Amino acid sequence: MAERKVSELSFNRYWVDLEAHSVRSETVACEDLEDLLGGIGRGFKLLEGLRTDDPHSPSAALVMNLGALSGTSMMTGLRTFFHAYSPLKRSSSGLPSAIWSAGSGKFGTKLRFLGVDEVIFTGRCAGPSTLHITQSQAGGEAEFSFKDAAALVGQTTNAKIQALYGEYPDAHFAVVGPAGENYETVLYATIALSSENQLKSGDAKARYCGRGGMGGVMGSKNLLAIVADTPDQKLQPPAATLKRINSVVGTGDGSRRFREAKTGGMGGTWANAEALSPSHAVPEYNFMPTGTDISVPLHRKNVEQLEDFTIKAEACFRCGIRCHKNLYETKSGTFRAKLDYEPLVLLSSNIGVFDVDAICELVELTDQLGLDAISCGVTLSYAMEYNRRHADSGASIAGGLAYGDAAAARHAIESIGEGKLPQLGQGALRLSEEVGEPAYAMHSKGMEFPAYLPQTNPGYPWALAGGHMSMRTYLVLLNEREVGIDYWVDTITSPERGLSIMRDDLVGICKFSGLSNDDVSEAVTKATGVNVSGEDLRDAVLRAFLRGYRLERLQGFTNDDYQLPADVLEKSDAIDLPYFNTPEFFAELQEKVLAKFDALLEANLPKLP
Ligand code: SF4
Repeated sequence: MAERKVSELSFNRYWVDLEAHSVRSETVACEDLEDLLGGIGRGFKLLEGLRTDDPHSPSAALVMNLGALSGTSMMTGLRTFFHAYSPLKRSSSGLPSAIWSAGSGKFGTKLRFLGVDEVIFTGRCAGPSTLHITQSQAGGEAEFSFKDAAALVGQTTNAKIQALYGEYPDAHFAVVGPAGENYETVLYATIALSSENQLKSGDAKARYCGRGGMGGVMGSKNLLAIVADTPDQKLQPPAATLKRINSVVGTGDGSRRFREAKTGGMGGTWANAEALSPSHAVPEYNFMPTGTDISVPLHRKNVEQLEDFTIKAEACFRCGIRCHKNLYETKSGTFRAKLDYEPLVLLSSNIGVFDVDAICELVELTDQLGLDAISCGVTLSYAMEYNRRHADSGASIAGGLAYGDAAAARHAIESIGEGKLPQLGQGALRLSEEVGEPAYAMHSKGMEFPAYLPQTNPGYPWALAGGHMSMRTYLVLLNEREVGIDYWVDTITSPERGLSIMRDDLVGICKFSGLSNDDVSEAVTKATGVNVSGEDLRDAVLRAFLRGYRLERLQGFTNDDYQLPADVLEKSDAIDLPYFNTPEFFAELQEKVLAKFDALLEANLPKLP
């Protein structure tokens, strides 16, 4: 293919007014690399002009888009992105912050077949609605229509998807669960994207856009489901064009951690528990490890030895990594839950539950209700810790929820998802403000931490969209054991280190592909015909971060918003890793990191008009 210029390419953008049920389409010429790549690069550019102080207002925008590699023949190129101002993440001024959340499955591929690169939703449907997107003929203009969704109200994510599948057998789906419908009292609702395995098996195997409450933004628009309805087409570019790169994705070192042992892998994100255990760095009891082996029975190899359960590695559409570690009951073959490291730990050891059967139930419940398992688990652990500390005074949260009480946790999760427990539905930040004890509320900027100790990760406060999705510093201490201030400033601020994790959210592939910048740039070049280098990608990553950071500042974030909870800066004798993240260290780091980002902002982004 002859080399093309960015300006020779364009993308299709649809403006959907949900109140008027009107759709306006435009073909937008790419102005820059961000427009070409799509994903968060274009998402942040858009959100600069769509600021709001109320994410649930009808006038607030919800942006859905694809990356340049979404829906192509690039392995793992399956990501659909949702961007909005978050109901959960906020500055201490109270203003919401721009955020994104992405998911795999096959919904994004169907959008690509429909020629839908980007949709901007505003307004609110008069009643619960489904948006149906289809085409009269392959390659024709996408057609949008609205259907009454009253029959879907209150149904779980899987029930909604299966019901829609019965009606639209050629389609894939984006839906909210009950949590998204109850957006006023649940701030961390997800959007579920259907997978092929889910539609074939009937099991609840959706993929989730989990972080930041995007499901609540969609629910606030009375939009319960989006149907991308078109027969499958040939993927572009032809698979042979990306053969070498796809082989690296499926068999290379970068994805090793997520693959099965028989393909040279380490067994999935679950393997992190085994890596962190010897240092007693697996979160237990609201991120305060016991220094014991109490969590060891939850290691994959130990669960595999239980007769009751069988683990199968399964995958999204055409993915050789097979990162889904799905638990089935051995005797009946019944699917129980998909166990990733974060939901597993945050709904087990971090709330003092160690029974595998109960853990499956809790993880599955959050998925079905459309709750972010990370925010939900950490809010539960905050309530449990508060109740432990106040056991003698009689003060309690959520009826005295206690560590280890799986039945009470289950009841609380159900109540949160159904909108009946707003005290916990508001997340750890707001709950800690309500009860006046912020020192052990495990979040930065309102985003609850994933299952890596904040004691070991001073980079969390600068993550734009969740601590393990947008800042690659969460395993650095374990792997490198460096504790110098300059080392950490560089690790957090470098587009080749901490920020590098955002690259795949620019282009639409899974972070588990583990590719080099050169391989991703080659894939983008082959898919678009525009010569994009590894350095171009690195620079685009930096600009994407700086746009997100600038949006935080514009929404009232001051230096004081970039914080860790006070208790995690204290020495823990239980954690067998260097203690370096002291109050003094963090204060100096905060000053230096912010100064560096402010200087980078000045040097790399044009001023907003
Ligand atoms: S790495 Fe996992 S989540 Fe990503 S496409 Fe493959 S199976 Fe799906």
